[in-house]
Amino acid sequence: MSTKPNLNKVEKDLVISMDYELSVEGDVIDYSEPNDPLEFVQGHGNIIQGLEEAIDGMATGDSKEVFVKAIDAYGEYDADGFVEVPKAEFPEDIPMEVGIEISVNNDDGEEMAAFIEEVSLEAVTLNFNHPLAGKDLTFKVKIVGIREATVEELEHGHVHFEDHDCCCEDGECASEGGECTCGENEKE
Ligand code: ZN
Repeated sequence: MSTKPNLNKVEKDLVISMDYELSVEGDVIDYSEPNDPLEFVQGHGNIIQGLEEAIDGMATGDSKEVFVKAIDAYGEYDADGFVEVPKAEFPEDIPMEVGIEISVNNDDGEEMAAFIEEVSLEAVTLNFNHPLAGKDLTFKVKIVGIREATVEELEHGHVHFEDHDCCCEDGECASEGGECTCGENEKE
């Protein structure tokens, strides 16, 4: 019996190349450029959960429209998800500008993303809601390629690109899910 994965179908631990177009309330807000599909390791939370589940089992060449409710995408909007930080306590190296994304450690030492919502005379208000929180998402996706992940990619849980060596050591990676961030400067 062969243990080789079936490379015709999207399944866990395979690297998937996918064209996508994302719309919210009828407006296209994001899409992959032609011939530059999104690449990710299926089953590792690289993409939002609702989408990952919906594409499981699709074959190369298959297209699909996937509707993902907010709760399975970036979560419901949390009206209490705001925190005011006195300016004096705000880190000096982060610009106090509305819209800037920062990462904050919570009481459990967990890293959380927040956006600067407001800057007043005395304080900076942080918004812990993702910009797409509370939004239902519609994806048009097409599976354009499926390949086996390398051992290292599986260890890290994300795709490594050919044009750079991953700088993550021993599986300790700077990126949480998503693609390897090591080569970001070379890629841009
Ligand atoms: Zn890596």
